[in-house]
Parts: sequence; C-alpha cells; structure tokens
Amino acid sequence: MSKGSRRKRATRPWQNPSALRDVSDLVTTSRFDDDLELPGYAVRQIDGASAAKEYTCPDCGNVIAEGEAHVVVWPVGDSDLRRHWHRHCWRMEVRRSDGAAS
Ligand SMILES: [Zn+2]
Repeated sequence: MSKGSRRKRATRPWQNPSALRDVSDLVTTSRFDDDLELPGYAVRQIDGASAAKEYTCPDCGNVIAEGEAHVVVWPVGDSDLRRHWHRHCWRMEVRRSDGAAS
C-alpha cells in the first residue's frame, strides 16, 4: 500500500500572493460552478484561503493539501456523509455519474 508519505512542505506556490492571484484570476473568470453540480448532491466549493487542514480525497486517495482549493460534497439531506474532493476528481465523478444515470 502506498500512502504517499512524501509531503512537500517547503514549497507551496499558493503561499506566494502574486502567483495565487494569477491562478485565481484564471479560475474565477472561467466556468466556476456548472460542471461541478450533480443532482442529489450538495457541492460546496472551498477556496484555498478557507482550506485550513489536510483532507484525503475519496476518489484518488491522495491528500488535499492545506491551502488547496477543493470541493466538499454530500448527499442532499445527509451532511454526515460529507467528503472533501479534489476539484478535478469531483468533476470526473460528475461526468461519470452523468453518463451512467442517463
Ligand atoms: Zn482526488
């Protein structure tokens, strides 16, 4: 079992304010929401500044680093089942589910 124990704590590009501004410009001016919605699920987007701790993504099993923008997802009405996902992992899950459901 690989647990991905090699964590890079020294260099975090999102802690560089100018780099962060560049990235968030890209993110916020492009499509932000619509491809992250999945019927039956509540999706909350967490920006980097609000991501105060590390989480483990249930899809890829890798760490979502402190300070990394990601999404929190739970079945509507069952917030006990909240999970933190990488944005790209959740987006792929949405696409998979869209295809499977119809
Ligand atoms: Zn992931």
